[in-house]
Amino acid sequence: MPTDSMIQAEGLKKRYGETVALAGIDLDVPTGSILGMLGPNGAGKTTAVRILTTLTLPDGGHARVAGYDVVAQAPQVRRNIGVTAQDATLDEMLTGWQNLVMIGRLSGLRRIEARARARDLLGQFELADAADRILKSYSGGMRRRLDLAAGLVTHPPVLFLDEPTTGLDPTSRVRMWGIIRELVADGVTLLLTTQYLDEADELADRIIVVDHGRVIAAGTAPELKTKIGGARLEVTLNSADPAAIGTLGPFVDGAIQVSHDGRRLRAPVRSGDGLATTIVRALDQAGITVDDVALHQPSLDDVFFVLTGHPAPERAADARAGIGPSGSETEVALR
Ligand code: ATP
Repeated sequence: MPTDSMIQAEGLKKRYGETVALAGIDLDVPTGSILGMLGPNGAGKTTAVRILTTLTLPDGGHARVAGYDVVAQAPQVRRNIGVTAQDATLDEMLTGWQNLVMIGRLSGLRRIEARARARDLLGQFELADAADRILKSYSGGMRRRLDLAAGLVTHPPVLFLDEPTTGLDPTSRVRMWGIIRELVADGVTLLLTTQYLDEADELADRIIVVDHGRVIAAGTAPELKTKIGGARLEVTLNSADPAAIGTLGPFVDGAIQVSHDGRRLRAPVRSGDGLATTIVRALDQAGITVDDVALHQPSLDDVFFVLTGHPAPERAADARAGIGPSGSETEVALR
């Protein structure tokens, strides 16, 4: 393992009966960085995390975490990691404070240390006011913050976050992102699984995209975006005007799709900076009146569609219904 690598795996494989959960995954997370593991439901993300956190044995391959082999040195691995899992087992009937103190005690802290750590973490995660409420009464966002706090009681240098913001409202997600960034600024190494491209984009230094237990793409967020064509431009005209296609041509990076009524034009663009204003000006100068110009960041669906040629599995039904990246727009080849 390279010396600056805190999480490293080669050829990890896992089968459940006939189901191949992992078909040979490689990954490498340098100290103090975040790897985002991106993929739809069933891609194999949780299985990878379960192996790396010593909860499941691999059928093949090797992995080291914090310098220790996840199979041969599982107790040492466990002492160096914090885990926030989708099925985290905190006690619903205990208060936030009691849960954290209990975890501290179970992790071998003395009572006074466990209490001090619980107090610090509740403060850090803005849960001090809710410290004495039972967990059952927490909102989804509060619950996720407590899950994360629970994973940090022992100051682990390596942290695994399994879909930390799935199901949270936008405000709670952004709050969680801030907390995660602070942890990494303090030197923690983090593996984050997510179904959201924007989350991986916001947080991760590098991203791997997993589908059917394999890594189908790897790189930084800008590298992946370049691969999938960056943002998508959507222009709605006041009324249909064929000249709009020629006017948009220099700004786009691929074919322009035109809706049946000719008013809505969509195309991939490489960079979004200042583009909307420039495009409105260009259309103005051509005498074309615009109702709306929008730039959409690519979604996980876009990533999957471009990388695999098919929509992400659980969204396939939507795509068949004409929603999403394989929708039924008329495509006009620009070049
Ligand atoms: P999700 O976002 O839904 O958690 P995931 O990317 O984490 O998805 P995994 O949970 O790792 O995916 O599942 C990968 C595949 O392995 C799926 O087909 C899943 O049904 C299967 N699988 C996972 N755990 C088990 C198990 N304990 N027994 C049988 N099959 C399993």
